[in-house]
Amino acid sequence: MNRTRARLSDGREIVYYDEGPGRVPVPDPRGLRPVEPLCETRRDPLTGDHVTITAHRNTRTFLPPADQCPLCPGGPASEIPDPSYDVVAFENRFPSFDVRTPPVPPEIDGVPRARGAGRCEVVCFTDDHSASMAQLPLSRVRTIVDAWADRTAELSAIPGIRQVYVFENRGVEIGVTLHHPHGQIYAYPFVTPRTERMLAAAAAHPGLFEDVLKAEREGGRVVLAGEHWTAYVPAAARWPVEAHLMPHRHVPDFTALDAAERDELAVLYRDLLRRFDALYGAPLPYVAGWHQAPAGNDSLRLHLELFSIRRAPDKIKYLAGSESGMAAWINDVSPEDAAARLRAAG
Ligand SMILES: [Zn+2]
Repeated sequence: MNRTRARLSDGREIVYYDEGPGRVPVPDPRGLRPVEPLCETRRDPLTGDHVTITAHRNTRTFLPPADQCPLCPGGPASEIPDPSYDVVAFENRFPSFDVRTPPVPPEIDGVPRARGAGRCEVVCFTDDHSASMAQLPLSRVRTIVDAWADRTAELSAIPGIRQVYVFENRGVEIGVTLHHPHGQIYAYPFVTPRTERMLAAAAAHPGLFEDVLKAEREGGRVVLAGEHWTAYVPAAARWPVEAHLMPHRHVPDFTALDAAERDELAVLYRDLLRRFDALYGAPLPYVAGWHQAPAGNDSLRLHLELFSIRRAPDKIKYLAGSESGMAAWINDVSPEDAAARLRAAG
C-alpha cells in the first residue's frame, strides 16, 4: 500500500491509499475559504455525558444528485481532486470535532464547556459510486483495514485525542446524507460514554473480553468463525439485527493486528455484511462501529458492533420512549433466532 498526502484548497488534509504505485496528487481547483469550525462540548450536569454542539453543520451537503456527488473523483464539486482513487481519507468539511475551533469560555450557566478539539475524517472505500463495502473485492477490503490502522495511528498521535472511533453508516434510514460508499472516523477529545461503561465493566471483571468471547463461542449464537476472529449475535443484543466480530487475541486497536489477523478480518467482515444484505433480500441499513481502546487504557479489546434498525422487511425499529428517554432497550427479536437467520443467510 502506498500513502500520498496532500492538502485541499481550504487547508484540510487528504491522504490517498493506493494498491498500486503512489501518485502525484492533483491540486484542488476550488479555491475554498479556510475552514472555520465551531465545535464545542458541554458536560450534562445530570449524567456527566459530553454533548457536542456543532451549529455550523446544519448547512452540510444533503443527498446531492449522483452527478454532483462530492465523493466521486475529480469533478468540479468533488472533495477528491484526483481523477481516480483506491481508498482515500480526508478531513470532513463539516466536522463534529475540529482542533481549529477557537477557544470557548470554560463554562456556560454553571455547565462545563470546552472546545471540541478533535478531528473528523471521511474514508472513501472506492471511486465507484454504486458499489458497497459488501461488494468490494477482498483485496480492497484488506486495503481499507490497513487504511483504518494507519488513520488510527495518526489520529491517536494528535495531542488531546483520547479515542479513535471508526464507523460506517449505511442507508438513508440510518441518516446517511451521501450514497457513495464511505465511512467516517471520529477522533474524540474525550472517552465516549459507552466506552467508559465498558472500561468500568472490564475493571470490575479482569479478563472480561476473553470470558465473553469464550462463552459466546461455546453458546448457540455464533454466526461465523475463523482462526483469528469470531462473529456472534451477543446474548443481550439490543438491536433486531446485531452481530459482534471479536478477535481471539486481546488487541486494543487496528494498529496491533498482525497480517494474518487483517487478512482474515477482510474475509469475515465482508461475509458478515453479505449476510446482513441477504436477510431481507435488499441492502440493509446498518451501522458498523469499531470499538477501540482509548489512549492509556488497553483493557478494552478491539471489536466490531454491527447492527441494523430494520426489524422486518417493511418495519424499522425506532428509538422511542424507553430507548431514547431511558437508554433501556427493548428488542422484539430473540438473539438466538437472529443468529440462526444470519447463519442461514450465508
Ligand atoms: Zn459518488
